[in-house]
Amino acid sequence: MTHSPLMKALVYHGPGEKSWDSVPLPHISKPTDAIVRVVKTTICGTDLHILKGDVPAVTKGRILGHEGIGIIQETGDAVSNFKKGDHVLISCITSCGKCEYCKRQMYAHCEDGGWILGHLIDGTQAEYVRIPHADNSLYHVPPGEDEEALVMLSDILPTGFEIGVLYGTVKPGDIVAIVGAGPVGMAALLTARFFSPSEIIMIDVDESRLSMAKKFGATKTINSACGNVAEIVLAQTKDGVDVAIEAVGMPQTFDICQNIVRPGGHIANIGVHGKSVDFQIQKLWIQNITLTTGLVNTNTTPMLLKTVESKELVPGNLITHRFTFDQFLKAYDVFGNAAAEKALKVIISNT
Ligand SMILES: [Zn+2]
Ligand SMILES: [Zn+2]
Repeated sequence: MTHSPLMKALVYHGPGEKSWDSVPLPHISKPTDAIVRVVKTTICGTDLHILKGDVPAVTKGRILGHEGIGIIQETGDAVSNFKKGDHVLISCITSCGKCEYCKRQMYAHCEDGGWILGHLIDGTQAEYVRIPHADNSLYHVPPGEDEEALVMLSDILPTGFEIGVLYGTVKPGDIVAIVGAGPVGMAALLTARFFSPSEIIMIDVDESRLSMAKKFGATKTINSACGNVAEIVLAQTKDGVDVAIEAVGMPQTFDICQNIVRPGGHIANIGVHGKSVDFQIQKLWIQNITLTTGLVNTNTTPMLLKTVESKELVPGNLITHRFTFDQFLKAYDVFGNAAAEKALKVIISNT
């Protein structure tokens, strides 16, 4: 009897249950696959949602994680952009590059991909991961780049930028409000600055996150625990904000956005909602507003990589805690108690 070689991975065992297990190594199953040795990964708020049982599509035994940096270990015969030894950024979105949605750069809806890593197939919180459609779903790490900082480009920076800033059509001079100063809200803040808005108002209940937001360029912060946020915003602006970015995913935070958007403005929803919201169409039908939603396509990743190379964007500032792979459960504890631990993004390294 032969034993297949094992690796360590963070495995989901049903709501509230996870462990750092020994599991079989992934292997190439299609010629377009690559096997990547994960060097650095992180934990996303989405992983906490999965652990709560909010994402029933994730089945017991699934390795979590959809972000990371690694080194190509092996490639399938059809992979032409990457070879063994290449350092790569793993996109949270897998895309075939050939289907109707991929042709429109809507990789989130790829007919043979989308968000599958750590969701429908095994993810990056492991020593090795299989990446389908490797040619289109991985990016070369520019030589000499800070690999830890680039982990922020797997998911949160493209998400904040594409679904918050671009869908919200932030323009020079705009007043932008971002509801939620978590990692994705901060990513929206950092990338909104590309367009020189006149104000960026950050709204959250966590004072330490608000003070971080100030350091990242927020012009005003509002602690939503201190009264009626909509009244405060309306009192501090002529008639509200041009762009309200929702980066939490709760009825209350969506409500703030619809109460502060000015006529002609945009509400860009990024938050993952588990419940319906009360959309005030009876007030807003006459206000010429635009409401957008979306899952990240990561089609802006090559552009964001250039802004990191030019130091226009310094994503490493989002990292507050660092762990090694054998401390994976500790990393989850810290990230799961983000407010008490003053955590934003954690990095877990395979040393
Ligand atoms: Zn994520
Ligand atoms: Zn596709």
